[in-house]
Amino acid sequence: MEKRFIYADNAATTCVSQKVLDAMLPYFTTAYGNPSSIYKLGRDAQRDVEAARVKVAKAIGADPNEIFFTSCGSESDNWAIKGTAERLAKRGKKHIVTSVFEHHAVLHTTQYLEKQGFEVTYIPVDEKGLINPEDVRNAIREDTALVTIMYANNEIGTIQPIDEIAKICKEKKVIFHTDAVQAVGHVEINVHEQGIDMLSLSGHKIHAQKGIGALYVRKGIALPNLIHGGGQERNKRAGTENVPAIVGLGVAAEEAVKNISEKAAIITPRRNRLIDGILKLPYTRLNGDRDKRLPGNLNISIEGIEGESLLLMLDMNGICASSGSACTSGSLDPSHVLLSIGLKHEVAHGSLRLSIDENVSDEDVDYILEVIPKVVERLRSMSPVWEKMMKGEKYE
Ligand SMILES: *Cc1c(COP(=O)(O)O)cnc(C)c1O
Repeated sequence: MEKRFIYADNAATTCVSQKVLDAMLPYFTTAYGNPSSIYKLGRDAQRDVEAARVKVAKAIGADPNEIFFTSCGSESDNWAIKGTAERLAKRGKKHIVTSVFEHHAVLHTTQYLEKQGFEVTYIPVDEKGLINPEDVRNAIREDTALVTIMYANNEIGTIQPIDEIAKICKEKKVIFHTDAVQAVGHVEINVHEQGIDMLSLSGHKIHAQKGIGALYVRKGIALPNLIHGGGQERNKRAGTENVPAIVGLGVAAEEAVKNISEKAAIITPRRNRLIDGILKLPYTRLNGDRDKRLPGNLNISIEGIEGESLLLMLDMNGICASSGSACTSGSLDPSHVLLSIGLKHEVAHGSLRLSIDENVSDEDVDYILEVIPKVVERLRSMSPVWEKMMKGEKYE
């Protein structure tokens, strides 16, 4: 078996596409004007920033003046949540509704707000990784300022019933924000038709560079300033615009939403082949609903192994993947997402996330399906936990 290099971690980040890179390059060399400058070099930069804004808006069905460029998806989430909280607290609304399995950019923000005296309701998810919209309805109170629920989960890829949740929020006259960082480019989104009030997206998950994001804020919602200073981003977020990154995000967003169903038609069968292939191993389970999930995502728990060891062995075989335990952060806590769908700690620890795009070919899938059983067998053969399991002993 010839060793390959396979990038199967597109939920962590993506490469900058050639098209995006080509679009960006002139802004480092010849078109380097400051968009605030009065001469042509500056005016051109201004024009191109605005053209990128139109592209990002179009990609999600918004108006250009509803798009704010930020430095990342996390910043967009922070601004939407803290900004709304600050604004509505003045009217006595100090309650926020979110879910237990949001990205940390949302969860750590709501935890911060709890320390500032806000109350937060964390909606549970079911064993398939889906939120029940009725739970959102029941959680909304007179003093609810905001509902923030992610569009698609970054670990298990499940797509949430956003339309229903948006409808409930509209009925209850509560602002609805969604972290759509994982959804943009994979799911058709039209914020106006869907009744979404605010939406976060990030460049580096859709083949733009790291360090650029956007926040959509529906017209009529006056979010407080994020950064004070110059008049950039309609006085809301000061700081000279990151012109190359913004131009790149414009192209990336345009490209990402171009062939969503065609891309899904290529990726989904490969994803399904990976799922079925890995599930042939004993003591494995698919995490998250099989159908209501992102085309490229699979997350499987493999009992009797440690996720980190699996990742290292896959790396030695040229496969970039991710796991459900947060070893990188120096903590041994298993993922809050996997715990939220009811997995036991030891099962959550042995989880594997593959997030493929159309560049992962059928031959790559064959290769992955050859490597994984070998690696798993080897790890299990060295695992005291697995040995106990096979002897039918209880293990902790
Ligand atoms: C990656 C990600 C973010 C953070 O985006 P950054 O641009 O890396 O800050 C937020 N939410 C979700 C769901 C993500 O997957």
